Amino acid sequence: MPAVAYVNGRYGPIAEAGVSVEDRGFQFADSLYEVVAVLNGRFLDWEKHLWRLRRGLSALFIEGLPSDAALAHIARRLVGLSRYADGLLYIQVSRGAGRRDHPFPSDTPATLVLTMRRFDFRQRLPQLETGVPAISVPDQRWARCDLKTTGLLPAVLAKQEARAAGAFEALFVKDGTVTEGGSTNIYMVTADGVIVTHPLSARILPGIARDTLLDLAREAQMKVEERPFTIEEARAAPELFLTSTTAPILPIVRLDGGAVGTGRPGPVTARLGQLAWAEIGRQTGWKP
Ligand code: PMP
Repeated sequence: MPAVAYVNGRYGPIAEAGVSVEDRGFQFADSLYEVVAVLNGRFLDWEKHLWRLRRGLSALFIEGLPSDAALAHIARRLVGLSRYADGLLYIQVSRGAGRRDHPFPSDTPATLVLTMRRFDFRQRLPQLETGVPAISVPDQRWARCDLKTTGLLPAVLAKQEARAAGAFEALFVKDGTVTEGGSTNIYMVTADGVIVTHPLSARILPGIARDTLLDLAREAQMKVEERPFTIEEARAAPELFLTSTTAPILPIVRLDGGAVGTGRPGPVTARLGQLAWAEIGRQTGWKP
Protein backbone atom coordinates (compact mmCIF):
# COMPACT_ATOMS: atom_id res chain seq x y z
CA MET A 1 0.00 0.00 0.00
CA PRO A 2 1.39 3.50 -0.78
CA ALA A 3 0.35 6.51 1.37
CA VAL A 4 -1.92 5.20 4.11
CA ALA A 5 -4.31 6.61 6.67
CA TYR A 6 -5.85 5.65 9.96
CA VAL A 7 -9.18 7.29 10.84
CA ASN A 8 -10.90 6.39 14.11
CA GLY A 9 -10.03 2.71 14.02
CA ARG A 10 -9.88 2.10 10.24
CA TYR A 11 -6.73 1.67 8.17
CA GLY A 12 -6.71 2.18 4.41
CA PRO A 13 -5.36 4.11 1.41
CA ILE A 14 -5.21 7.85 1.99
CA ALA A 15 -7.42 8.54 -1.03
CA GLU A 16 -10.26 6.59 0.55
CA ALA A 17 -9.97 8.09 4.02
CA GLY A 18 -12.31 10.82 5.25
CA VAL A 19 -13.96 12.51 8.20
CA SER A 20 -17.39 14.09 8.59
CA VAL A 21 -18.00 17.55 7.07
CA GLU A 22 -19.13 18.42 10.58
CA ASP A 23 -15.77 17.55 12.06
CA ARG A 24 -14.63 20.45 14.21
CA GLY A 25 -11.16 20.20 12.74
CA PHE A 26 -12.69 21.13 9.37
CA GLN A 27 -15.27 23.62 10.71
CA PHE A 28 -13.25 25.48 13.34
CA ALA A 29 -9.63 24.25 13.16
CA ASP A 30 -10.56 22.91 16.61
CA SER A 31 -7.71 20.42 16.43
CA LEU A 32 -4.04 19.79 17.01
CA TYR A 33 -1.45 17.94 14.97
CA GLU A 34 2.06 16.53 15.03
CA VAL A 35 4.48 15.63 12.25
CA VAL A 36 6.96 12.91 13.18
CA ALA A 37 9.97 11.98 11.05
CA VAL A 38 10.25 8.30 10.19
CA LEU A 39 13.75 7.26 9.18
CA ASN A 40 14.84 3.71 8.57
CA GLY A 41 11.39 2.66 9.83
CA ARG A 42 11.97 4.31 13.22
CA PHE A 43 10.42 7.39 14.77
CA LEU A 44 12.65 10.33 15.56
CA ASP A 45 12.01 11.92 18.99
CA TRP A 46 8.70 10.05 19.43
CA GLU A 47 8.33 10.79 23.16
CA LYS A 48 8.86 14.52 22.64
CA HIS A 49 6.13 14.66 20.01
CA LEU A 50 3.70 12.80 22.28
CA TRP A 51 4.55 15.14 25.13
CA ARG A 52 3.79 18.21 22.98
CA LEU A 53 0.54 16.70 21.69
CA ARG A 54 -0.69 15.87 25.19
CA ARG A 55 0.28 19.30 26.48
CA GLY A 56 -1.76 20.93 23.68
CA LEU A 57 -4.75 18.64 24.17
CA SER A 58 -4.89 19.43 27.85
CA ALA A 59 -4.61 23.21 27.13
CA LEU A 60 -7.59 22.91 24.75
CA PHE A 61 -9.61 20.47 26.91
CA ILE A 62 -9.68 17.82 24.15
CA GLU A 63 -10.05 14.41 25.73
CA GLY A 64 -10.13 10.81 24.62
CA LEU A 65 -6.77 10.25 22.91
CA PRO A 66 -5.73 6.57 23.19
CA SER A 67 -2.90 5.70 25.57
CA ASP A 68 0.72 6.31 24.54
CA ALA A 69 1.15 2.58 23.97
CA ALA A 70 -2.00 2.35 21.82
CA LEU A 71 -0.94 5.37 19.79
CA ALA A 72 2.52 3.92 19.22
CA HIS A 73 0.91 0.66 18.12
CA ILE A 74 -1.31 2.45 15.57
CA ALA A 75 1.65 4.49 14.31
CA ARG A 76 3.88 1.43 13.92
CA ARG A 77 1.14 -0.50 12.14
CA LEU A 78 0.57 2.38 9.72
CA VAL A 79 4.28 2.63 8.93
CA GLY A 80 4.32 -1.14 8.35
CA LEU A 81 1.33 -0.95 6.00
CA SER A 82 2.95 1.85 4.00
CA ARG A 83 6.15 -0.18 3.55
CA TYR A 84 8.06 3.12 3.52
CA ALA A 85 11.29 3.19 5.47
CA ASP A 86 11.51 6.99 5.31
CA GLY A 87 8.51 9.25 5.59
CA LEU A 88 6.41 11.66 7.57
CA LEU A 89 3.87 10.42 10.06
CA TYR A 90 1.07 12.95 10.52
CA ILE A 91 -1.15 12.80 13.61
CA GLN A 92 -4.24 14.96 14.01
CA VAL A 93 -6.68 15.02 16.91
CA SER A 94 -9.84 17.11 16.65
CA ARG A 95 -12.60 17.70 19.15
CA GLY A 96 -14.77 15.45 16.99
CA ALA A 97 -17.85 15.91 14.80
CA GLY A 98 -21.04 17.58 15.95
CA ARG A 99 -23.78 20.00 14.89
CA ARG A 100 -22.06 23.28 14.07
CA ASP A 101 -22.02 25.37 17.23
CA HIS A 102 -18.98 27.12 18.70
CA PRO A 103 -19.05 25.79 22.29
CA PHE A 104 -17.82 22.25 22.86
CA PRO A 105 -20.35 19.54 21.96
CA SER A 106 -21.17 17.11 24.74
CA ASP A 107 -20.47 13.38 24.41
CA THR A 108 -18.62 13.66 21.10
CA PRO A 109 -15.57 11.44 20.77
CA ALA A 110 -12.38 13.06 19.50
CA THR A 111 -11.41 12.34 15.89
CA LEU A 112 -8.01 10.70 15.51
CA VAL A 113 -6.33 10.70 12.11
CA LEU A 114 -2.86 9.44 11.26
CA THR A 115 -1.27 9.35 7.82
CA MET A 116 2.06 8.07 6.60
CA ARG A 117 3.60 9.42 3.40
CA ARG A 118 6.97 8.87 1.85
CA PHE A 119 9.55 11.59 2.37
CA ASP A 120 13.09 11.64 1.07
CA PHE A 121 15.32 13.13 3.76
CA ARG A 122 18.34 12.84 1.46
CA GLN A 123 17.18 15.99 -0.36
CA ARG A 124 18.27 17.92 2.75
CA LEU A 125 21.94 16.96 2.46
CA PRO A 126 22.74 19.06 -0.66
CA GLN A 127 20.59 21.87 0.81
CA LEU A 128 22.75 21.75 3.93
CA GLU A 129 25.75 22.38 1.66
CA THR A 130 24.23 25.22 -0.37
CA GLY A 131 21.80 26.84 2.09
CA VAL A 132 18.36 28.20 1.25
CA PRO A 133 16.82 31.66 0.71
CA ALA A 134 14.23 33.19 3.05
CA ILE A 135 12.02 36.27 3.17
CA SER A 136 10.54 38.14 6.14
CA VAL A 137 6.82 38.78 6.64
CA PRO A 138 4.72 40.33 9.43
CA ASP A 139 3.69 37.80 12.08
CA GLN A 140 -0.11 38.01 11.93
CA ARG A 141 -0.85 34.97 14.05
CA TRP A 142 -2.85 34.61 17.24
CA ALA A 143 -1.53 34.83 20.80
CA ARG A 144 -1.02 31.06 21.39
CA CYS A 145 1.57 30.06 18.80
CA ASP A 146 2.92 27.51 21.32
CA LEU A 147 -0.07 25.29 20.51
CA LYS A 148 0.29 23.23 17.33
CA THR A 149 -3.23 23.80 16.05
CA THR A 150 -4.35 23.20 12.48
CA GLY A 151 -5.34 26.89 12.31
CA LEU A 152 -2.46 27.53 9.94
CA LEU A 153 -3.82 30.24 7.62
CA PRO A 154 -1.18 32.88 8.44
CA ALA A 155 1.52 30.24 7.87
CA VAL A 156 -0.13 29.13 4.62
CA LEU A 157 -0.12 32.73 3.31
CA ALA A 158 3.45 33.34 4.50
CA LYS A 159 4.78 30.14 2.93
CA GLN A 160 2.96 30.88 -0.31
CA GLU A 161 4.57 34.34 -0.37
CA ALA A 162 7.94 32.68 0.20
CA ARG A 163 7.37 30.24 -2.63
CA ALA A 164 6.29 33.02 -5.00
CA ALA A 165 9.54 34.85 -4.12
CA GLY A 166 11.60 31.71 -4.81
CA ALA A 167 12.38 31.36 -1.09
CA PHE A 168 12.34 28.27 1.12
CA GLU A 169 10.94 29.91 4.23
CA ALA A 170 9.22 33.04 5.53
CA LEU A 171 10.50 34.52 8.81
CA PHE A 172 7.73 35.93 10.99
CA VAL A 173 8.53 39.37 12.43
CA LYS A 174 6.56 40.61 15.44
CA ASP A 175 7.27 44.01 17.05
CA GLY A 176 10.57 44.07 15.17
CA THR A 177 11.75 40.66 16.45
CA VAL A 178 12.06 37.42 14.52
CA THR A 179 9.76 34.95 16.26
CA GLU A 180 10.09 31.84 14.06
CA GLY A 181 9.53 30.65 10.50
CA GLY A 182 6.26 29.67 8.81
CA SER A 183 6.98 26.06 9.73
CA THR A 184 10.43 26.20 11.31
CA ASN A 185 12.33 27.68 14.25
CA ILE A 186 14.90 30.37 13.39
CA TYR A 187 18.39 31.08 14.77
CA MET A 188 21.14 33.58 14.19
CA VAL A 189 24.82 33.18 14.98
CA THR A 190 26.51 36.31 16.31
CA ALA A 191 29.94 37.56 15.26
CA ASP A 192 31.44 35.86 18.34
CA GLY A 193 29.77 32.53 17.55
CA VAL A 194 26.80 32.60 19.95
CA ILE A 195 23.70 30.73 18.74
CA VAL A 196 20.66 32.93 19.42
CA THR A 197 17.02 31.88 19.14
CA HIS A 198 13.70 33.23 20.41
CA PRO A 199 12.98 31.92 23.94
CA LEU A 200 10.09 29.53 24.52
CA SER A 201 6.93 31.57 24.96
CA ALA A 202 3.40 31.76 23.56
CA ARG A 203 4.93 33.50 20.51
CA ILE A 204 6.62 30.38 19.11
CA LEU A 205 6.07 26.67 18.74
CA PRO A 206 8.34 24.66 21.04
CA GLY A 207 9.95 22.85 18.11
CA ILE A 208 11.13 19.32 18.68
CA ALA A 209 14.10 19.81 16.35
CA ARG A 210 14.83 23.04 18.30
CA ASP A 211 14.89 21.16 21.58
CA THR A 212 17.21 18.48 20.23
CA LEU A 213 19.48 20.97 18.50
CA LEU A 214 19.93 23.19 21.57
CA ASP A 215 20.80 20.10 23.64
CA LEU A 216 23.39 19.04 21.07
CA ALA A 217 24.88 22.54 20.91
CA ARG A 218 25.18 22.78 24.69
CA GLU A 219 26.68 19.29 24.94
CA ALA A 220 29.29 20.38 22.40
CA GLN A 221 30.13 23.42 24.62
CA MET A 222 28.76 25.84 22.02
CA LYS A 223 27.28 29.06 23.38
CA VAL A 224 23.49 29.33 23.25
CA GLU A 225 21.31 32.31 24.14
CA GLU A 226 17.53 32.04 24.14
CA ARG A 227 16.45 35.66 23.69
CA PRO A 228 14.46 37.68 21.17
CA PHE A 229 16.52 39.18 18.32
CA THR A 230 15.52 41.84 15.82
CA ILE A 231 15.21 41.52 12.07
CA GLU A 232 18.07 44.08 11.80
CA GLU A 233 20.31 41.83 13.92
CA ALA A 234 19.32 38.93 11.70
CA ARG A 235 20.23 40.87 8.54
CA ALA A 236 23.64 41.74 9.99
CA ALA A 237 24.35 38.25 11.42
CA PRO A 238 27.14 36.19 9.84
CA GLU A 239 24.94 33.07 9.94
CA LEU A 240 21.23 32.28 10.05
CA PHE A 241 19.66 28.86 10.08
CA LEU A 242 16.38 27.04 10.64
CA THR A 243 15.29 23.75 12.16
CA SER A 244 12.20 21.54 11.86
CA THR A 245 11.20 17.91 11.78
CA THR A 246 11.30 17.93 7.99
CA ALA A 247 14.48 20.00 7.53
CA PRO A 248 16.11 19.09 10.22
CA ILE A 249 18.67 21.96 9.99
CA LEU A 250 19.33 24.23 7.01
CA PRO A 251 21.48 27.35 6.61
CA ILE A 252 19.66 30.50 5.43
CA VAL A 253 22.01 32.21 3.00
CA ARG A 254 19.76 34.99 1.62
CA LEU A 255 17.21 37.13 3.45
CA ASP A 256 14.84 39.35 1.46
CA GLY A 257 17.23 39.17 -1.48
CA GLY A 258 20.38 40.20 0.43
CA ALA A 259 23.24 37.85 1.29
CA VAL A 260 23.50 36.50 4.83
CA GLY A 261 27.17 36.74 5.87
CA THR A 262 29.27 35.61 2.92
CA GLY A 263 26.18 34.24 1.16
CA ARG A 264 27.43 30.72 1.88
CA PRO A 265 26.72 28.42 4.86
CA GLY A 266 28.91 29.31 7.84
CA PRO A 267 31.05 27.13 10.12
CA VAL A 268 28.75 27.13 13.16
CA THR A 269 25.76 25.93 11.13
CA ALA A 270 27.93 23.34 9.38
CA ARG A 271 29.10 21.97 12.74
CA LEU A 272 25.51 21.85 14.03
CA GLY A 273 24.50 20.08 10.82
CA GLN A 274 27.04 17.35 11.54
CA LEU A 275 25.81 17.00 15.12
CA ALA A 276 22.12 16.91 14.10
CA TRP A 277 22.60 14.24 11.42
CA ALA A 278 24.81 12.20 13.74
CA GLU A 279 22.00 12.26 16.32
CA ILE A 280 19.50 11.14 13.66
CA GLY A 281 21.82 8.25 12.80
CA ARG A 282 22.21 7.39 16.46
CA GLN A 283 18.45 7.31 17.11
CA THR A 284 17.32 5.59 13.93
CA GLY A 285 20.31 3.93 12.28
CA TRP A 286 19.52 5.99 9.15
CA LYS A 287 22.24 6.30 6.51
CA PRO A 288 22.04 8.46 3.39
N1 PMP B 1 7.43 26.57 14.17
C1 PMP B 1 6.30 26.37 13.49
C2 PMP B 1 5.33 27.49 13.35
C3 PMP B 1 6.03 25.11 12.90
O1 PMP B 1 4.91 24.91 12.22
C4 PMP B 1 7.00 24.08 13.02
C5 PMP B 1 6.80 22.74 12.39
N2 PMP B 1 5.56 22.22 12.57
C6 PMP B 1 8.17 24.34 13.74
C7 PMP B 1 8.35 25.59 14.31
C8 PMP B 1 9.22 23.28 13.93
O2 PMP B 1 8.78 22.34 14.86
P1 PMP B 1 9.36 20.85 14.87
O3 PMP B 1 10.82 20.97 15.08
O4 PMP B 1 8.66 20.22 16.01
O5 PMP B 1 9.01 20.26 13.53
